[in-house]
Parts: sequence; structure tokens; C-alpha cells
Amino acid sequence: MNRFDYVRPRTIAEALSAAAQPGSAYLAAGTNLIDLMKIGVARPARLVDLNHLPGLDAIEGLPDGGLRLGAQVRNATLARDAGFARRFPAVAEALLAGASAQLRNAATVGGNILQRTRCAYFQDPDSACNRREPGSGCDARDGENRLHAVLGWSDACIATHPSDFCVPLVALDAVVEIEGSDGAREVPLRNFHLLPGTTPERESVLAPGELVVALRLPPGADRFAAHARYVKLRERTSYAFALVSAAAGLHVEEGRIVEARLALGGVAARPWRAEAAEIALAGAIPDAAAFRRAAELALAEARPSGENGFKIELARRIAVRALSLAASGTPTRLPALPASPFASSAGGLHD
Ligand SMILES: Cc1cc2nc3c(=O)[nH]c(=O)nc-3n(C[C@H](O)[C@H](O)[C@H](O)COP(=O)(O)OP(=O)(O)OC[C@H]3O[C@@H](n4cnc5c(N)ncnc54)[C@H](O)[C@@H]3O)c2cc1C
Ligand code: SF4
Repeated sequence: MNRFDYVRPRTIAEALSAAAQPGSAYLAAGTNLIDLMKIGVARPARLVDLNHLPGLDAIEGLPDGGLRLGAQVRNATLARDAGFARRFPAVAEALLAGASAQLRNAATVGGNILQRTRCAYFQDPDSACNRREPGSGCDARDGENRLHAVLGWSDACIATHPSDFCVPLVALDAVVEIEGSDGAREVPLRNFHLLPGTTPERESVLAPGELVVALRLPPGADRFAAHARYVKLRERTSYAFALVSAAAGLHVEEGRIVEARLALGGVAARPWRAEAAEIALAGAIPDAAAFRRAAELALAEARPSGENGFKIELARRIAVRALSLAASGTPTRLPALPASPFASSAGGLHD
């Protein structure tokens, strides 16, 4: 058992001050952090509990039409907010495709974007892992790596980011609001997670002690609501992380795509925005040929990092599927589990 301090701040200023001590970690719901502490992967000297800070659990409409999601909003609260699901159905669908109902009831917006990789070697303190222990090597390179990255990986690390929630958020240009001892700043979510390069231990742009206070969806991000889907492929139908996933949003007028959004999950150390595909789709007729071309572009730079070459074609097919489903229109009731026989029984779009 590692000893650690536990601090319960009542204001953001107190939280920042408490987290300034080296070795501190913020505690949201703890569904990831506490698990990692139990297996000896995370050893914080001090836990700074975010659960008693005022104002971090609000979902707020903004005067410019954007939407602000406090870092402590629970994943289930957000997914089941009918107004949110109507405007951002692919985000609600991604949330409902993640973890289990109990976990979603606890897990938070901030904790979800900052959850750590599920690479099995990262989670085993006896394995070599550059992300956990810089310079120690990477046992995944010659190990069990069929679930690992096919985009943006490096020789130092081939892990993927496990979040479903982040994938449609990146497609919709979400922004992360951050506070630190030097003041407040904002970072687009698409630049928030770092690719491994030679420093895989640096997983995000957060400096030590910085706190995520909110995520913001910009004004107009809901223009894709009528044609938006999240499709997740996993090795069993529920309670599993994505093998690959795709979030697609289309703005269609008079039978043509005016604007497209596409992001992939399970393929890289960050949610992967497929910009070249989006450009190719703008102005196209939404048909199978256009979607396949977009999928080819989205995976053009993909290469296997091990026994995972199959994920490249799988990701192309999931991208085509997400785009095709988006083109046929957002359903009035969202499937919680897209591949499930019970797909029509759970909903999020209507009260
Ligand atoms: C069995 C299981 C299955 C799961 N399946 C899925 C899945 O399919 N899809 C999916 O997307 N997720 C899945 N999850 C992940 C789950 O969603 C995460 O555990 C959860 O989102 C983390 O949220 P939390 O609030 O518990 O964060 P915590 O565990 O409290 O924190 C996670 C990390 O974020 C940091 N942190 C938290 N909040 C902040 C903040 N505001 N500012 C700065 N740092 C912060 C913490 O210090 C910690 O490092 C699964 C988890 C489990 C245990
Ligand atoms: S892939 Fe990354 S997280 Fe996994 S063992 Fe290698 S360095 Fe560690």
C-alpha cells in the first residue's frame, strides 16, 4: 500500500494550489485513476478531489450558441440530456457505447478525455513501457499488439487512446478550457492529446498541476445533427473498448454534401481527425463511391505497428459505415449498442 495525501478543495484556486505539489493527481470519479493505483501503475503522492468544487458539473448554453460542459458532468448525465442528444447525437451515441451503465453514472467529462491507454503492458508494472517508465522500452512492439495503433505511432510507443467520447468531439471542433497557476487558456481538443514521438510519457498538453475545467462545443457545431452517427466496433458487443470506431457528421443540402466531419477512434494515441476525407466529401453526392474514397484518404498514412494490419481495412469499412448511416439520417432513437440485437430499445433523442 502506497501512502498518499487526500485533499478536498472547495474552490478552483485551492485545487490549483493543492495540485502544485509535485506528484499530485486530480481525482474525478476515480474509475481509471483508482484502478491504476490499485495495480501499482499510478502512485500519486497526493490526490486532489474535484468532487466538491462548485460549478464544474453544469451543462450551460452560451450566448453565442455554443455549449459548455463542466469537467465534472457525469457521462450518463450528458448522454441522457435530451436537449444535448438532439443537438449532438453522435456524442451521445459515443457516450452510450462506452464502458457500462454504472461506470457512465460515475465517470466525468474531464476524466474521460484524460483516461490512460488500455495497452496491457502499460497496465503491468513488470513490463517494459516507455509511457509508464521513460527509456525502459516497449514490450508491445514484439508482444500482443493486434489492438494497437496504425496511425501516428512511433518506435517508442504504439498505444491508442481509448476514449469513445473524444472521437465525435474532435470531429465537432470541441475546445478544452484549462486553468493553471499562470491563468486560463484554451486548446482545441484535436491538439490536446499528444502523439508519442520520443516522449510517450507526455500524453497531453496539460502542464503539471493544470486543471481541465470544461469542454466547449462551438456555435454551429450542431449543424450536423440531422446526419450524425458514431459507430464502434469491439471484440464483444458491450463493456469493451473500441477496436476501431468512427464519428461522422454531414451537412446535406439538395442531395449534396455541403460539409463533412469524420474522426476515427482506436487507431492512434489521439482521436484522429480525417481532414483530407472531409475535404474530398465537400460538394460530393453522398454515395458509396464517395464514402469509400473518403475512407481511403482517412487511412492513407496508416501502417501496421505489429500484428494489426487488419485494423486498417477495418477502419476504412467503419468509416464508410458511419458515413453511410449518417447520410441516411440520424435515427429518432439512438441505439446504445449499434451492433446489438437490442439496438432499438435504448434511446437518447427524445424524452
Ligand atoms: C471496465 C471499464 C471499461 C471502460 N470502457 C470504456 C469505453 O468503452 N469507452 C470509453 O470511452 N471509456 C471507457 N472506460 C473509461 C471510463 O470512461 C473512464 O474510466 C472514465 O471516463 C474516467 O473518468 P473518471 O471521472 O473516473 O476519471 P478519473 O479516473 O478520476 O481520472 C482519470 C485521469 O484524469 C485526470 N483528471 C480527471 N479529471 C481531471 C480534470 N478535470 N483536470 C485534469 N485532470 C483530470 C486524473 O488525474 C486521472 O489521471 C472504461 C472504464 C472501465 C473501468
Ligand atoms: S505501446 Fe506504449 S503504452 Fe504500450 S508498452 Fe509500449 S510504450 Fe508502453
